[in-house]
Amino acid sequence: ATMPPLLSAIALAGRHGVLVKSAVVMERLTDTDLVVFDKTGTLTEGAPRVAEVHPAPGRPDEAELLRLAAAAEHPSEHPLAGALLAAARDRGLALPAAHDFTSAPGRGVSATVDGRRVLVGSPALLDGLASVDPSVHRVVDAVQAGGRTAVVVVVDDAAAGVLALADRARPRAAVTVAALTALTGARPALLTGDNAGAAGRLATETGIGEVHAGLLPAEKVDRVRAHQRAGRRVLLVGDGVNDAPALAAADAGVAMGRHGSDLALRTADAVLVRDDLSALPALISLARRARRLVV
Ligand code: ADP
Ligand code: MG
Repeated sequence: ATMPPLLSAIALAGRHGVLVKSAVVMERLTDTDLVVFDKTGTLTEGAPRVAEVHPAPGRPDEAELLRLAAAAEHPSEHPLAGALLAAARDRGLALPAAHDFTSAPGRGVSATVDGRRVLVGSPALLDGLASVDPSVHRVVDAVQAGGRTAVVVVVDDAAAGVLALADRARPRAAVTVAALTALTGARPALLTGDNAGAAGRLATETGIGEVHAGLLPAEKVDRVRAHQRAGRRVLLVGDGVNDAPALAAADAGVAMGRHGSDLALRTADAVLVRDDLSALPALISLARRARRLVV
């Protein structure tokens, strides 16, 4: 017995490492004319490393800054948290327990460590502080201008320092972006909560056409909707809790299987089981072929 074309397309997608959740998804993928990527953990490996540690003037030394920040990140599933934990481990730092942990997708985390309130996250955290040494802002600007991610550490309502994190494009990112450009006729776009410097550098490296940086989860949704109002069928690829609303808003949502947060995996219509981006053009091609057979 032969399988119906949509079912056999789903089975073939499985061989490429894509778990497609329903036949309807396969149909929607057919019309994709813009692919939109999240940055951290999706287009990048999501295995950033701490490249620089800059304590603020008169604040704890490098090891102490890293110890507090890593301890606060311990419960987080964000790729940046993994980088801080690895850096602390490499330096042989013993991490105290984190209490009252909370995380704000697209912004960062907060926790009580050694009786102190520690915030770790985007430079926007500095906006909420009474006064910040100008050198802290200068370090943030320099880190971002260098194409890296600046992570700010705040201890008891005072800026304690800045960490510079470096992440790499996934090995197949540029090839995949080129293949998707050819398939859809449009260069893919990049939506990220990270800064414009890091996003711009990655875009240049991978052939991305359009970049929007500094976005909160709801703003990613706004960008998807703007493209949809312009008549485009949007395929969104993401991994984070911060991508879940945009994955739901897109015409089709694909999550990274290995790096993906539980929420992204549940919200997405399909999952790249091996985090292999090159399965994306294969997926769209399979969907199109199935439709030709169905019609
Ligand atoms: P992306 O959209 O590229 O996947 P996110 O929205 O997850 O990035 O994060 C955006 C920014 O928010 C990060 O660049 C970082 O500054 C900050 N951030 C988010 N979560 C964390 C965290 N757990 N630790 C430190 N910084 C974080
Ligand atoms: Mg991400």
